[in-house]
Amino acid sequence: MSYKLELNNIVRNYGSFQALKSIDLQIEEGEFISLLGPSGCGKSTTIRLVAGLDNPTDGEIRIDGDLVSSAGGGLPPEKRNIGMVFQSYAVWPHMTVFDNVAFPLKMAGRPKAEIESQVRKTLALVGLDGFETRSATMLSGGQQQRVSLARALAPEPAILLLDEPLSNLDAKLRETMRFEIRAIQQRVGITTIFVTHSQEEALTMSDRVAVMNGGIIQQIGTPEEIYHRPKNGFVAGFVGLANILPALAESCAGDRLRLQIADGISIVCDHAPDLDGKRCQAMIRPESITVSPGDALEASGDLNSVRGVIDRVSFGGNVVDYFITSPGTDLTWRAQTNPKKLLASGTEVTMTFGADDVRVLPLDPK
Ligand code: ATP
Repeated sequence: MSYKLELNNIVRNYGSFQALKSIDLQIEEGEFISLLGPSGCGKSTTIRLVAGLDNPTDGEIRIDGDLVSSAGGGLPPEKRNIGMVFQSYAVWPHMTVFDNVAFPLKMAGRPKAEIESQVRKTLALVGLDGFETRSATMLSGGQQQRVSLARALAPEPAILLLDEPLSNLDAKLRETMRFEIRAIQQRVGITTIFVTHSQEEALTMSDRVAVMNGGIIQQIGTPEEIYHRPKNGFVAGFVGLANILPALAESCAGDRLRLQIADGISIVCDHAPDLDGKRCQAMIRPESITVSPGDALEASGDLNSVRGVIDRVSFGGNVVDYFITSPGTDLTWRAQTNPKKLLASGTEVTMTFGADDVRVLPLDPK
């Protein structure tokens, strides 16, 4: 069974400090949503409010339409039917794997036979069947995290909250666990909020990502929307790499807009309404830029072409990063390509990219 979760106009003040400014988040039944943002943006505060570990200053939280939190208080955590997994595993070391997972079921007074079958079923779900009698201290970090996931899922909660569950694992295991957690969540079909600093985790695991900064959801959308159509400079710069260039919207012809990005350099992009004559920013992902030696390629139609000189080359195995300056301007570019044929620093190059590779963003607030 899965439930809809709604956060309506949530505000959380600590004294005069507003940790959450007005959070609106509707999570559909069975949906996996990530809260992604830098340290201090309000991710943990949001998840704590949903869990009932704290109450909002204003606004309301509903599960399956039922009010569980409002400014006046709310249901205690144990009455919310929520499972939670933390970064620190929080597995009890003096208990066996079975007893760890059985604990919430015993606390809920479930009959012994039901506990037995539920624990075995959930351990099989997380790939730990056969580990029942193992002491929790004899497990690897990844196995401990599976135990805490099984413990959260065993009572069949309505909502699953995952607070940076992969942060303590090494890089290789983090990647494996990403796919496993997502596969388990989909098998169970449980509505899930996942808190993370990691854009890779958020993009690879989620149905939708909510990018937060300064107690505000800056943008919410599918991973593709967030990556390819960021709404502002913060989202563009926080999720993936981006060239973000100050620009002046010069003129519009048909469905194309011309942007001046430096004296004597302009580029075309897809038309954005109401921008003529206005200052804005142009965002181009480094992997959208093709770097060719010399000045062979002229701009034409939908193809942008900008001259530059390679300032620095950084070889990263599967990709090479070029840091490129445009002579006579302050512009520096980053382009990322397949490293089949490396170009040396000092090489004069032409950067080409399509009109549809340019995203127009509003100026950042001062
Ligand atoms: P991190 O990724 O570092 O865990 P976060 O995005 O989860 O950060 P929160 O823990 O939600 O951020 O904190 C949001 C802001 O609220 C921070 O500036 C934090 O210092 C502040 N804050 C959180 N709890 C309290 C509290 N009990 N009293 C005062 N300020 C608090």
